[in-house]
Amino acid sequence: GDKPLVYLDNAATTQKPRQVIEAISSYYEQDNANVHRGIYELSRRSTRDFEAARERVARWIGAPDATEVIWTRGTTEALNLVASSWGMEFLKEGDEILLTEQDHHSNLVPWQLVARRTGAVLRYVSIDEEGRLELESLDALLTARTRVVAISHVSNALGTVNPVKEIVERAHAVGAIAVVDGAQGAPHLTVDVVDQGCDFYAFSSHKLCGPTGVGVLWGRRELLEAMPPYQGGGEMILEVEKEGSTWAALPHKFEAGTPNVAGAVGTAAALDYLEALGRDAILAHERDLSAYCIERLSELPGVRIFGPAEVMDRSGVVPFNLEWAHPHDVATILDTEGVAIRAGHHCAQLVMKRYCVSATNRASFYVYNTRDEVDRMIDALRVVQGIFG
Ligand code: PLP
Repeated sequence: GDKPLVYLDNAATTQKPRQVIEAISSYYEQDNANVHRGIYELSRRSTRDFEAARERVARWIGAPDATEVIWTRGTTEALNLVASSWGMEFLKEGDEILLTEQDHHSNLVPWQLVARRTGAVLRYVSIDEEGRLELESLDALLTARTRVVAISHVSNALGTVNPVKEIVERAHAVGAIAVVDGAQGAPHLTVDVVDQGCDFYAFSSHKLCGPTGVGVLWGRRELLEAMPPYQGGGEMILEVEKEGSTWAALPHKFEAGTPNVAGAVGTAAALDYLEALGRDAILAHERDLSAYCIERLSELPGVRIFGPAEVMDRSGVVPFNLEWAHPHDVATILDTEGVAIRAGHHCAQLVMKRYCVSATNRASFYVYNTRDEVDRMIDALRVVQGIFG
């Protein structure tokens, strides 16, 4: 269109700074070779960059040891890895998997699949009117049969920041492991997996200014070592015989095949970029925009805002509906005004069902967004109001 773009769909994916694009093209121009194989200089450079990126990720999430950091295609693959490898090895009939109504499908469906295959039973923590997990119900839901608690650090559909540390402690108290979907956590909050106490933490690079197709699973060493490989292939073996094979040490046991080296390099560049801005500053900026957005939305008639009223309990995600216009119509008209927001179920259909809506509008902010852009969205919503209101 002819209107300057206002991009407010950062919970879906973020735009890429020049530093990230340049790191990727420079890798391809100067250092490209396969990793961990070549005995020549170029492959050594590629391997060095790839492993340095792993160290960079470890620092970002406070992981004590970079060999506990596994490269994946993204959050979805990381969570499937845990459900499939840990779940198929350790879950049995009657064991319980505790999920939440708040979660993204990528933290629900992998556990549903493994439950079907193992006979494990699914339980759900419900959410209250404001989109907070109903922790009072944890007493009843956490039992000696609970083996896994899978939650999200921050809800993509509501913006709620969850008290992960407390939930992890309570999971551990009944002997369950805690799996954290950090897709909306790692880009926006300071993450320290040791302090949080979780057993697994997953996130995607593309939601923190990095490239698509790459993400991370961090896992506790003892658990990763006890788990069977997720996929078989090159890179992940120690010795192959006709009847079977032995596995490479961590992290390579979980990295079958040629990895996304350029993706890892781009991820490291994105983390450097964000670190330079300062993580506290990023979160403060997002919360400022959320508060401003909520304030301005409240000027409109018939507006319903989802998620916690207290802005300190949310990140930069503002879901809302208008009584007088369907979310898909809203987003379509906003698009003609140059404003990109999301409308839909946000891969969280249980959240939609909880609030008896089929879809919501969602504005989500990141480092480069401004209050002026929020104003542009409100102006565009006035256009919608002129048509439907
Ligand atoms: N979990 C949450 C909370 C998300 O917001 C997303 C993003 O869509 C995902 C998981 C899945 O991430 P990806 O599609 O990058 O694997």
